[in-house]
Amino acid sequence: MKFYSTNRSSPDMSFKEAVIKGLPQDKGLFFPEQVPTLPPSFFEALPDMALPEIAYEVLKEYTAPDIKPDALRAICEEVFTFPIPLVQVEEGIYALELFHGPTCAFKDVGARFMSRCLQAFAEPDKPVTVLVATSGDTGSAVANGFLGVDNIEVVILYPKGGVSEIQEMQFTTLGQNITAVAVEGTFDDCQQLVKQAFSDEELTREMNLSSANSINVARWLPQMVYYFHAWGQWRKQNPENDAAGATFAVPSGNFGNLAAGVIARQMGLPVLYFIAATNRNKVVPAYLESGEYSPAPSVATIANAMDVGSPNNFPRILEMFGNKYEDLKQVLKGYWTEDAPIRTAIQEVNENHKYLLDPHGAIAYLSLKQYLPSMETDGIFLETAHPAKFKGSIDDILGSDIALPEQLQAFLNKPKQSGSIGNNYSQFAALLQEQHKLQSQS
Ligand SMILES: *Cc1c(COP(=O)(O)O)cnc(C)c1O
Repeated sequence: MKFYSTNRSSPDMSFKEAVIKGLPQDKGLFFPEQVPTLPPSFFEALPDMALPEIAYEVLKEYTAPDIKPDALRAICEEVFTFPIPLVQVEEGIYALELFHGPTCAFKDVGARFMSRCLQAFAEPDKPVTVLVATSGDTGSAVANGFLGVDNIEVVILYPKGGVSEIQEMQFTTLGQNITAVAVEGTFDDCQQLVKQAFSDEELTREMNLSSANSINVARWLPQMVYYFHAWGQWRKQNPENDAAGATFAVPSGNFGNLAAGVIARQMGLPVLYFIAATNRNKVVPAYLESGEYSPAPSVATIANAMDVGSPNNFPRILEMFGNKYEDLKQVLKGYWTEDAPIRTAIQEVNENHKYLLDPHGAIAYLSLKQYLPSMETDGIFLETAHPAKFKGSIDDILGSDIALPEQLQAFLNKPKQSGSIGNNYSQFAALLQEQHKLQSQS
């Protein structure tokens, strides 16, 4: 598959080139030249297909010919090793639990897939440095997905004091090829530093830079797999239901996850509506209401992995609707909330339905409560992280002491290794150059 830039002034690239470059030169986003549609036989078989098999079928056209069929099968088997259950929370509302992977967040899927692709593409004499800006969960998923992979160095930038303690431990305790750097600034500042590095000609001449942010096609595309899986499981659990499709509520920050759902729909997945569910960083819900798209500095909330003021994947969603606002509004609904209703939802759902929401999933749950009565179908919300990743908030809300899953406990006793810089590009560039020097000496 060839990928073009949504800004249309960079040359088309193969899957391999798009994965290595991450971002087109013209600062658009890579988008597949053609979105394949899947045959009815695929959807009939879907409820009984295993995740690696679904992954292979939906991804094969995007990765060909750079990844051969056998190699893709092997990658899908390695990536989808954990379950993604669809759990009924109450009548008509289901949680898609995306938190059973190694770092307990949905980002494990994309990060693991991308690391295996990059490993397949990296050349021994040309090491790749992967730059990541994280608001919390990207850092841990990418760090763990890439840990120990040959010829790849990972540099993670995160806002100092802006991620939870457990999140921080998951990417600052690893060592090996993973370097973590705290930035005196917000997530948007971190993202800006990464963008600046990519447009720094001197730096990119010396170093092979790649991005593992959700803009990378190898992180973005595999996320569609679990939308297909969710629909299959929903059909399986509700053979009598004759709704034309489900509604998916997606807790959103950079909108990569939601953009993956939208491309799944373009490939034929029966989805009636998507709900873009956000915290107070409500650029997209506000756009759906007013038609005005106004990125704003991010504000801190208890759903911190969604504290994004300028969502970098949104242009892909616009692209899929041909940049037509009216068409977009037919399918995509917006919802946003303050922190207080999130706390109440966590408490009430725990009490009434014995289901523990995390702050991000709670927003999507709330969005379904608002919209479902007028939608005539069931709702599936994405549970994007394990509630224990936000243990501080959850314990505070419930007056509890919730247990950490095994995956998270493993990080607790390791020493933190992390540097620190100001919100300053020359400091960041110097750090990268220093690291590159060390790498080429080793
Ligand atoms: C990253 C993240 C999100 C936002 O996902 P996007 O693809 O950036 O919209 C939501 N919830 C959690 C827990 C996350 O880590």
